[in-house]
Amino acid sequence: MRLLRSTDLALRVLMRLAVTSETNPTTRDVATAMDVPYTHAAKVVAELQHMGLLTARRGRGGGLALTEEGRTASVGALVRAFEGEGDIVDCEGTATSAPCPLSSACRLRGALRQAQQAFYASLDPITVTDIVAGPTGPLLLGISPRP
Ligand code: SF4
Repeated sequence: MRLLRSTDLALRVLMRLAVTSETNPTTRDVATAMDVPYTHAAKVVAELQHMGLLTARRGRGGGLALTEEGRTASVGALVRAFEGEGDIVDCEGTATSAPCPLSSACRLRGALRQAQQAFYASLDPITVTDIVAGPTGPLLLGISPRP
């Protein structure tokens, strides 16, 4: 199973905010520090703000700050929110492809659903604070964007 780029990016933004000593860094500061495109970071920041995991204030003295909900957010819940609960295999087809002929009675589909739920469940007890514990936290603070 491969995560969407936005899911990983959301976690990276939260991780950076969890360890930064800067007072209210901007989205651009975080994007630069994490070496990700500003436009992608801005979209993810807007979503995280909507979820109540960070605050984003504009203008002088503004910037991003992790909320208590963001600090204690479950990684599993966050991954679910960004990935959605849809099947990991496209059984029903798309606008350009037909549905799989087995889709109405496929045991593999059920097994994959169970595996997907187990994957999320394994991440449920892990919080943002947990994933920035040493050695990750100090490393996060030390990274700088590639030239
Ligand atoms: S074989 Fe089963 S899991 Fe695979 S696409 Fe078809 S219905 Fe979905």
